[in-house]
Amino acid sequence: MPIRVLSEVVAAQIAAGEVVERPASVVKELLENALDAGATVIVVEVEDGGRRLIRVSDNGAGIAPGEAVLAFHRHATSKLQTVEDLNRIATLGFRGEALASIGAVSRTTMTTRPHDDATGTTIQVEGGALRFQRAAGAPTGTAVEVENLFFNTPARLKFLKADSTERRHIAQLVTNYALAYPGVRFKLVQEGREQFHSTGSGSLADVLVEMLGLETFRDMLEVRPQPSSRPDLPPVEVWGYTSAPGLNRSNRQQIVLFVNGRAIADQSLTYAVVQAYHTLIPAGRYPLAVLMVRLDPEQVDVNVHPTKAEVRFRAPDAVFAAVQRAVRRAVIDQAPVPSMGGDPYAAVDQGWNPPSSAANAGLNRPLVPGEQQLRMQLDSFGAGRYAQQRPDSPQFATSAQGSAIPAGPQAPARPRTLPVLRVVGQAGAMYIVAEGPAGLYLIDQHAAHERILYEQFMAQHAAQQPAAQHALAGATVELPPASARLVEEALGALRDLGFVIEPFGANTVRVRAVPALLADRDPREVLLGVIEDLETGSAPGAATLEERLVRRVCKAAAIKAGQTLSFDEMQRLIEQLERCVSPRTCPHGRPTMLHLSGDELARQFGRL
Ligand code: ADP
Ligand code: MG
Repeated sequence: MPIRVLSEVVAAQIAAGEVVERPASVVKELLENALDAGATVIVVEVEDGGRRLIRVSDNGAGIAPGEAVLAFHRHATSKLQTVEDLNRIATLGFRGEALASIGAVSRTTMTTRPHDDATGTTIQVEGGALRFQRAAGAPTGTAVEVENLFFNTPARLKFLKADSTERRHIAQLVTNYALAYPGVRFKLVQEGREQFHSTGSGSLADVLVEMLGLETFRDMLEVRPQPSSRPDLPPVEVWGYTSAPGLNRSNRQQIVLFVNGRAIADQSLTYAVVQAYHTLIPAGRYPLAVLMVRLDPEQVDVNVHPTKAEVRFRAPDAVFAAVQRAVRRAVIDQAPVPSMGGDPYAAVDQGWNPPSSAANAGLNRPLVPGEQQLRMQLDSFGAGRYAQQRPDSPQFATSAQGSAIPAGPQAPARPRTLPVLRVVGQAGAMYIVAEGPAGLYLIDQHAAHERILYEQFMAQHAAQQPAAQHALAGATVELPPASARLVEEALGALRDLGFVIEPFGANTVRVRAVPALLADRDPREVLLGVIEDLETGSAPGAATLEERLVRRVCKAAAIKAGQTLSFDEMQRLIEQLERCVSPRTCPHGRPTMLHLSGDELARQFGRL
């Protein structure tokens, strides 16, 4: 075929394809226009998943009659003039492409009236051609109606997913914008039914309650901006909500990020959020988060892609670190103990009144509800609160030497991270039953011990202390060839942990020493466990080899379920757990304890 310049219509359809991929893209562009026009009320109506009709009405600035046609021209925009303007974009739109693109692949009717004008204008564009423009009575603001989307691009139409899929995308999008603009009242009506609305109260918490429901929202932790640790990097502010570790999902889709009010897709920032939960939620599970990131517009390039969903940061490390720090802080400071009664805060809630309406939920919440109360209790009770109740008769004396639970230093190394707990007993040789100021706690002895060992190990590692070793006469272990290679490659990492392993013939190794923690374990079994970890490989985002090995050692060394513990052992275990940075989960992210609050007990016994 000879080379020819494409007709304007074909060129327009190709360009439109980049902006308008599916009905949700139309909704996105129209929402952005409404927000850029300063609207405080936006209504989105959708029929047949957006194929038949998408209508977005706003009470924003409107368009003057003389400019209405221009709005549908490609590269016609009121938001940008010079190349320099591109460096500091403060509006959601700027490419001047959306209306032109939408008009090219549908029949679009826009009715608009600026605040100061007595009458409005209606203009219709179909398949890129102007059908009519006329004066019309209209409320102030703009309503854009998009009908028969993709009527002239059958290929696109064919690839559209089921209406229900498109509806879901649209709902997600509208909720996202409602989160980013809590001061704007949004309403979404799909197939004639109201599906979502926000109040426009200005509070992110309010929108989240609408989106998640009050129950789930209560498991969200507030993320507050943290002072930067790197004054040399540009300032980045991060705030919003993120889930307590107990609330998690099987995919990342509920991690929603906004940069300067724009919903963005950024794998690296999503990873920063997930990273912040490291060892706190199980592998393969993901938190829920809604995070606002604010930074100088000059620090972000939004002109990366026609859909404007990707951005580029001038200092990506600064943004990554800010997100991770803020989320981690929120999670470590506020994570509650999972509750057996379904309401994790009930026990410590005496100082917190449940919101009378969703409107106030968490709005000015300084911490997770009740957490402050809990802290007060920790401070005022001190370590001696239950001392007099602690059994110290001989039958509770320290158990045999070489107990699996090393005694911790008596002086507290760091502030308590749990309330003071008094051991009541052991259940099923698996769980420690304990009592605290806020009710009853069931502690998984194995998970708790794993957490303690893990933190001790990591602290040692951070202090670059050599790992304590236990020398062996030299147990030889024969391995499948592939496993033998893996062990050989990891000899360095293993040595750091306290293993001394040497090759001993083709596929045989000799274990000369193991970490001291594992002194009484079968070296062969330990080694086979380690090999399992080596075989897991390093999937992207997975823990480093060293970390996996540390966890393995801690798992192997921790007291097992089924092991009867003396009172003293249990008390010491709990004292050490109280000093852990993250006492509420094991290194694999499972909970170490469950909480049954005083209120919950009273409820269950019908006392309330
Ligand atoms: P962009 O948003 O990138 O400027 P669009 O094609 O989306 O490009 O819109 C073109 C212009 O039309 C905008 O710059 C704005 O001036 C005007 N416009 C579009 N939608 C609205 C609206 N809802 N309210 C007021 N003005 C609007
Ligand atoms: Mg626009």
